[in-house]
Amino acid sequence: MRMKVQTHASCNRITESKCSSNRQIIDQFGRVFTYLRIAVNQDCNLRCIYCMPEKGIRFVKSKNKMSQNEISRILKVSSELGVNKIRFTGGEPLIHPHIISLVEIANKTPGIDSVHITTNAVFLKNMIGNLKKAGLKGINISIDTLDMKKYLLITRRNILNKAIEGLEAAISIGLQSIKINVVVLRGFNDCELKDFAELTKEHPITVRFIELMPFDDNQIWRTGKFMSAYDIKQKLNEYFPNMALTFGSNTEHTIYNIPNYKGKIAVIPAFSRNLCAQCNRIRITSDGKIRNCLFASNENDILSPIRRGGSDIDLKRILISSMWKKTYNGWEAQNLKKETRNSMAQIGG
Ligand code: SAM
Repeated sequence: MRMKVQTHASCNRITESKCSSNRQIIDQFGRVFTYLRIAVNQDCNLRCIYCMPEKGIRFVKSKNKMSQNEISRILKVSSELGVNKIRFTGGEPLIHPHIISLVEIANKTPGIDSVHITTNAVFLKNMIGNLKKAGLKGINISIDTLDMKKYLLITRRNILNKAIEGLEAAISIGLQSIKINVVVLRGFNDCELKDFAELTKEHPITVRFIELMPFDDNQIWRTGKFMSAYDIKQKLNEYFPNMALTFGSNTEHTIYNIPNYKGKIAVIPAFSRNLCAQCNRIRITSDGKIRNCLFASNENDILSPIRRGGSDIDLKRILISSMWKKTYNGWEAQNLKKETRNSMAQIGG
């Protein structure tokens, strides 16, 4: 069953009884969820200023972290409900001891068409071969600046060269989908939009410019560094007046191609949230909580039921009912409950 999301929340709610199928995950507005993002950990080897303080955060205790078997179980039940795309994120997924076998398990799960990772790529160079062999189809690499000094300022680590080596390794091994995530900070890296866009000249990659979001305790985004998707597009248009609109994934608001360039440029309105109608994402945190929207902090626990011996049907019910309750958009979600997590690393960016 696929239903269109319409424009007014009040007039397009469908009732749970009308949602007869238990073979897919849908919500009261008819959105169908086929894309599962699993945070495999919260720890990270970087300390990006908009994400985590230098001393780290209150990391989830290891006994509360999902194990490889528990993640496999979630992969199985969700794929039986129509999930066909998986992304492992974190924290930093490449420092998870079993990330390669998790990719392999996900890739071998019937119904899963593609497995992806979001990473800072610092450890990628030596892992990309095994990740590809395990079935990895796509990688999103987070690099906010191409300037070594700025990289140190933003990540608090002087290892831009490692991240670039990782990116180059992904390109040279020929991974199907390679995207670079750039969180745009006004007055810091907005002067690099052109340099990043130029990377698409020779390489069939997508460079994604992302709005800063308010998910950090330090609230960097209140310091005037937020730059809207609209302003990012304006600036890109000044540099590349002949860039043309093209197509991309659900959350890539505006996707461009510069004539004769091999790759694409995308602008992601992560904070402006005008893509909620197209949302097809389920998020599960590393401590096993389902978040039905990035901005929804009323999470549903799936890990405890797994540990209590819940059946596949029990777990499917939890997935279905959690997603059913998704609000019309991220603004409504944000108003329901005060955020309790204090870093994207806890949610799984
Ligand atoms: N460590 C991995 C990485 O760096 O890609 C995966 C986790 S990280 C939390 C995922 C993405 O979230 C990164 O692209 C990061 O830049 C982004 N992110 C973290 N905090 C953010 C914030 N406050 N606003 C926007 N993006 C954020």
